[in-house]
Amino acid sequence: MPNHNLRLPDYSGLFSESRRPELRPWLQRLPTQLGAAFGSERHGDWPVWQATLDSLPGIKASEVDLDADSILIGGGCGEDERGRIETLLRRLHPWRKGPYTIHGIHIDTEWRSNLKWHRLENHIQPLDGRTVLDVGCGNGYHAWRMIGCGAGLVIGIDPTLLSVAQFLAVKHFAGDFPVYVLPLGIEDILPNLRAFDTVFSMGVLYHRRSPFDHLLELKGCLRSGGELVLETLVIEGESGRTLVPEDRYARMRNVWFIPSCPTLLSWLKRCGYRNGRVVDVTRTTTNEQRSTDWMRFQSLPDFLDPVNPELTVEGLPAPVRAVFIAESP
Ligand code: SAH
Repeated sequence: MPNHNLRLPDYSGLFSESRRPELRPWLQRLPTQLGAAFGSERHGDWPVWQATLDSLPGIKASEVDLDADSILIGGGCGEDERGRIETLLRRLHPWRKGPYTIHGIHIDTEWRSNLKWHRLENHIQPLDGRTVLDVGCGNGYHAWRMIGCGAGLVIGIDPTLLSVAQFLAVKHFAGDFPVYVLPLGIEDILPNLRAFDTVFSMGVLYHRRSPFDHLLELKGCLRSGGELVLETLVIEGESGRTLVPEDRYARMRNVWFIPSCPTLLSWLKRCGYRNGRVVDVTRTTTNEQRSTDWMRFQSLPDFLDPVNPELTVEGLPAPVRAVFIAESP
């Protein structure tokens, strides 16, 4: 049943976005999609998070650095106010992607997401003025970094409402930038929109039951000649090798396909991408992913075999991630 008391965040800047006419058919559907997503009880209680966002004091930032490893938003804020802001931000626990420093409060997130950014930033097409989609953007950490690199418009999508709430808390303090995070999945984007110059999909492919459909959906989002930046778990080995865990992988229930790099390159080719290449392969360390004061649940150290950290607790190869770049024809 539709909830008529539901109040949505202000997306008017996005609805009136005119830089890409190709986006229009999707933007027209957005109010309906957003109403359904924010009204859904599947991912938690939006009104509670909305109340937290409403309580944030309206302090203007005098300093914003989106190109910093810990995204920096600062300005005049007294001790009392800082304490109040921190209490409110902590209500949005668990903070997984970051870090952020907001009015002197360091949000030490589970992931040091800046490390992933450094692994790819020098390999991608410059983002200046580009229209970008970040699929599975979490709370928008990388979306902010993209704006910091000069992107003209960044739309992040992630079905978890808590991620959207965290993004809105950051945006509340950062002010008006052309970046939006929507509580949607890739399946909510109209097929073959062909509107984006760059599409990121990082940490999503292995959660998809059908990796080929995911690669084709991403291609449908890209304009001709646009760039895909794909980051995912990989295993070692030759073309054709793929790990499909029998059950959990590093305690995650929803992991489906972990290909070798040559296998994923062949998938990209099969899906019609051009010039697919691997630009980085890195083992995930407990320096990059760990429990913190802002993410108090278990994390990577608990998911690795205590005797042999080359293996997960299930006895599978420990997480190694790779970044792939390819172009849409
Ligand atoms: N891109 C970020 C976050 C990766 S975590 C990074 O690399 O650090 C993977 C994210 O994908 C989660 O936040 C999850 O909610 C999101 N996700 C899962 N299914 C999705 C779907 N169908 N469409 C878009 N995002 C999805």
